[in-house]
Order: sequence, then C-alpha cells, then structure tokens
Amino acid sequence: MLPPDNHIHTQFSWDTRSRSSMIRACEQALTVGLPAVAFTEHVDFIQWGPSDSPMNDLSQARSPGSIQPLDVEGYAASIAECRERFPDLRIRSGIEAGEPHLFSGSVAALLAQASFDRVLGSLHSLPRDGLLVGVGWFLKRETAYDVVRDYCTELLRMIERSDVFEVLAHFDYPRRYWPSAAGTYEESKVEEEHRAVFRALATSGRVLEINTASPLLSATAMRWWHEEGGGAVSFGSDAHTPQRVGERFDVAVDVVEAAGFRPGRDRYDFWRR
Ligand SMILES: [Zn+2]
Ligand SMILES: [Zn+2]
Repeated sequence: MLPPDNHIHTQFSWDTRSRSSMIRACEQALTVGLPAVAFTEHVDFIQWGPSDSPMNDLSQARSPGSIQPLDVEGYAASIAECRERFPDLRIRSGIEAGEPHLFSGSVAALLAQASFDRVLGSLHSLPRDGLLVGVGWFLKRETAYDVVRDYCTELLRMIERSDVFEVLAHFDYPRRYWPSAAGTYEESKVEEEHRAVFRALATSGRVLEINTASPLLSATAMRWWHEEGGGAVSFGSDAHTPQRVGERFDVAVDVVEAAGFRPGRDRYDFWRR
C-alpha cells in the first residue's frame, strides 16, 4: 500500500501551467495506486505586504521572474470537479508557501480567502545582495557546504517564526543543484545543522517531508529525524508533470520504513513512528 502523495503541482502553479493538469494528475494517481493526493500549488510573493517581515528596505523582495499569484477561485473549482470525477481518490487541497516566515502577512491574507487541507512550508531562496535569490542560482558560485549551512540556519528561523505550515517540504533542496565541482555530497559534514532543524521541527509537533524529486532518498537523514523525536513523515513527489505523480514512492517507502516509521492511522494519513 503506497502512501498519499502530499506534494503535487498542477496548472495552477506559476512554474507549471500547461505542463500539467489536475485531471491528468488524478488519473496518474489512480494508475499507480495512490490512495490520496494533495495539490499543493506554489504561493510566492514578489513585493512585501503590510504584515510581512521584510529582510531589506525595499518594497520588492525579489526579482519578479515568472511568479504569478494563485487563482484561488479557479483552483477551488478544479478541486471540486476532480472530487466529483474521481470518487475513489481522496483529493486534498493545499499550498506550498515559499519563505512563509518572511511573508507571514501575505500568506495569512491568502489563507483568509480559502481553506487548504495541506500547507507546506518551503525555503527556495536566501538573501543575497539585499534580495531573495534562488538557492540553485548561487550554489555553484559559492562554497557549496556553506550554502547548505546557511540554508539550515534559515530553515530554523522559518520553523521558529512561522506556524502557518504543517509539513516542512524538501529540507534537502540545495542537493538538487549540487555542483559537481563540490564533489560527492557528504551528509556527515552537515549532520549537526540538520539535526538542529529536525529537533526544532519535532518540538513544534510538525511533519518532515521525504521529497522524491530530490536526488538522495537517504535513510541517514530520515534516521536523524527519528532520533531527534520526529513524529511523522509526509511523502511528496513534487510532480510538475502528471507522469511524476507518486514517482519513486516504492523506494521512499523503504527508506522511511528503515528509519523507523510505519503507516499511520489509515491509508490517507502520514506515516508515523
Ligand atoms: Zn518547492
Ligand atoms: Zn513543490
């Protein structure tokens, strides 16, 4: 029995659009045998809002790139349509909130418009030269392990300063962009930093995600999560195309099981210790 895929993007995410469709993602979930899915669309902000915590003196937080606001009404209509069309699949709504500790007011304003079953907290960017910049962009321009340490420090702040998210998404995000010049990634070099993040997350009673878009699927980090008191694990493919829904969950299940977690109360639940 596979766990729910709690991290999927569809046409409502600004970086996905025509690459995916909620209906096709549901079809794929049924094909691979998933009991449940959560459509966690990106929620990112370019400008600081009234109750945010700006880390610069500008009105702008980052270069706009192609970031667009979530179409909350269109998204809700699509969720309702899919629930009707696919009664055998548990379909959860959700968002992936980027840097929620910095954009607390903006995220709260969005959550006041609609309710979402799953809220993921994500760190994609760190401050560089006064603006938020994507980790992938500067990882190869700086000392890679120092970037991972910076990333963990900011994750800690995010956990301490934001309680809006239930699941910490892709704690291993920098590894997706690991530069070959930095050699093989050695987890042991950043063990203490990761343990500190996991301890804070466990203390706050939240859930760690195993993200199968990341290259690792390492049992070591999941074991650290267990040892630091982590109570639950969420599985997420981070699919931006329907074909990737539930991808590598067979491997992820083995990794999470080896770290000491088991299926939860029912097949729609997180895995628990
Ligand atoms: Zn993400
Ligand atoms: Zn994502």
